[in-house]
Amino acid sequence: MTKFSSKKTLLLAGAGHAHIGMLRRLGTARLKDTDTIDADIHLISEQPQTIYSGMLPGWMAGHYQLHDISIDIKSLCVRAGVRFIQQSLVKVNAASNKVVTTGDEQTDFDYDVLSLNTGADTDMRWLRDHKGQNDYRSDNDDRDANTDVIAIRPLSTFITQWQRILKDAQSSEKYQLAIIGAGAAAIELVMAAQVALRNINRNHQVTLVCGENLLSGFNSGFRQRVIKQLHRHDITIVRERASDYRDGKLSTTYKSLPMNAVIAATGVIGSAWTASTDLEIEGDGFIAVNDKQQSVSYPNVFAVGDVATRVDKYVAHSGVHSVHGGAVEADNLLAYLGDNVMKSYQPKSRTLYLLSCGDKYAIGSWGNVNLQGRWVWHLKKYIDKQFIEADKN
Ligand SMILES: Cc1cc2nc3c(=O)[nH]c(=O)nc-3n(C[C@H](O)[C@H](O)[C@H](O)COP(=O)(O)OP(=O)(O)OC[C@H]3O[C@@H](n4cnc5c(N)ncnc54)[C@H](O)[C@@H]3O)c2cc1C
Repeated sequence: MTKFSSKKTLLLAGAGHAHIGMLRRLGTARLKDTDTIDADIHLISEQPQTIYSGMLPGWMAGHYQLHDISIDIKSLCVRAGVRFIQQSLVKVNAASNKVVTTGDEQTDFDYDVLSLNTGADTDMRWLRDHKGQNDYRSDNDDRDANTDVIAIRPLSTFITQWQRILKDAQSSEKYQLAIIGAGAAAIELVMAAQVALRNINRNHQVTLVCGENLLSGFNSGFRQRVIKQLHRHDITIVRERASDYRDGKLSTTYKSLPMNAVIAATGVIGSAWTASTDLEIEGDGFIAVNDKQQSVSYPNVFAVGDVATRVDKYVAHSGVHSVHGGAVEADNLLAYLGDNVMKSYQPKSRTLYLLSCGDKYAIGSWGNVNLQGRWVWHLKKYIDKQFIEADKN
């Protein structure tokens, strides 16, 4: 068991958007010598870098190098005076203030205050044999293990798999790739993939398998603009549900489609470790939190981003809410440690959504206002770079 010093221990698990913001803030406070946090801070993450999802489609389309879309967590920790521990969280025992991790070996860590920002897993329960059981986690793991489908998460694994797809496509006469999903991420991936594969060979083809409800959370004007872009890219759209992929055949409601590879961007489900915790869970494996991003069952545990679900109101799982919720959560962690009053995270009623279309073109949505053009892509690039390069300023 690893013991820390007698100061209070703040344990940060995961290096998602929120913890990146927190590390930056601690680093700046340290530089200006305004650091007033009387705690030992440790960050546990699987990887020394975090891949920024907002720029992943741009990397696939060839607009960015891998280093352009990666954030160096280890360096951020050094600047912030935070101890970096490269391990994977596998269990949280909140009753005894302990987490268990794996890496070279299994380790226990004690904490006084815990903040969770480990993101979520790809929901693979659409695969055949899913019985709709309440045991969401084991069902997801079974489906995940029995298929050749490439899940979009974790992004670090996807990066390697995408590089393999490109390599295979180089030596193929007609490479066929399907992307399963109906949300904004799937749409961005499908257009980026089509651009990348067509740059290799004009015969290569990407298919979007999206069921009946394409972009259901967006207004119809936005949806129409997206569909036009999918047609412009000559993407095949199959409005059926996919149910299985094996031996090079993708099964949908009425078809069996030959595919060289299949990528799933089918929404999120709670991280695997959430099956091993005594924290209260909401829905399909998300940590139940209140408006302070605080666990509803253990007040010294906070969670933010895709790992958490608010119990008081609907807040979508998205990078935007991880960033903004994370800023409030960081204030609350400090307030909790200092016995001060905490704040409530109230998401804005409208958020700007920018969807890249693969070839330096983008569509934007802000409430009912829709925009598109190359300038929208440049706006997206500017905003993304602001986030990724914040440490270099
Ligand atoms: C292609 C694509 C494009 C997207 N574009 C947008 C967009 O433009 N705008 C938007 O708002 N949302 C977008 N999203 C959604 C967005 O990616 C997620 O909502 C967001 O990443 C969630 O952030 P997070 O802070 O919860 O965690 P994540 O960004 O998922 O990061 C989690 C971190 O925790 C680490 N980790 C995970 N498990 C463990 C573990 N067990 N132990 C230790 N560490 C762990 C991971 O390595 C990672 O560093 C997109 C998603 C995809 C797939």
